[in-house]
Amino acid sequence: MTVRDNLAIIRENIEAACQRAGRDPADIRIVAVTKYVSVERAREALEAGITDLGENRDDGLLQKYSVLGDKATWHFIGTLQSRKVKNIIDKVDYIHSLDRMSLAKEIEKRATKPVKCFVQVNVSGEATKHGLAVDEVIPFIEQLHDFSHIQVVGLMTMAPYTDDEAVLRACFRQLKLLQENVQALQIANAPCTELSMGMSNDYVIAIEEGATFIRLGTALVGKQF
Ligand SMILES: *Cc1c(COP(=O)(O)O)cnc(C)c1O
Repeated sequence: MTVRDNLAIIRENIEAACQRAGRDPADIRIVAVTKYVSVERAREALEAGITDLGENRDDGLLQKYSVLGDKATWHFIGTLQSRKVKNIIDKVDYIHSLDRMSLAKEIEKRATKPVKCFVQVNVSGEATKHGLAVDEVIPFIEQLHDFSHIQVVGLMTMAPYTDDEAVLRACFRQLKLLQENVQALQIANAPCTELSMGMSNDYVIAIEEGATFIRLGTALVGKQF
């Protein structure tokens, strides 16, 4: 399948989900996750109308950035080791995986302008997943209030790997509630209006529950192009 064909199906699904939820499809941003695919396939995504690309490793990001740098908005979506921050910090527009103070300090030190960050939350509490526990999120964000290079634009989660719709829905709903609680605190560098949630297998449910950024790899660009 071409990216264009995949995108047409995804857009239909987004519209239907938005209709069910009373939302505007224009409020959903698609991040094409290109970690499994070539630079050529990433370029195909941009030519199909995608504007946002996501990578989960510094070397993958740098490789694609060196070719497509000025043509996309760049998202770092994976676990970020502090020592890798300096490699990517002046290239990415968004970091979706802020999950600890040592990483926040490194971003603060290396960035030359405010970086849009999602705080990653481990809603499901699975031991294998990264992210802060739900009750750690607000204290963490409060501690960032004087970090001039960090802007907490929202919260991010990875749902449990299941096709149990009720489990997925509960996870996304909990992140939405937490996002609203952070937003209500009106912390200057934490507007926290966005929700990065939903991947190839669960983006429709995520949209119904309030996602504003969905991160699509397999369903959009495939796995081996
Ligand atoms: C790989 C990845 C995705 C995309 O996964 P798909 O299931 O292929 O859509 C989204 N978010 C993160 C953090 C990822 O690592």
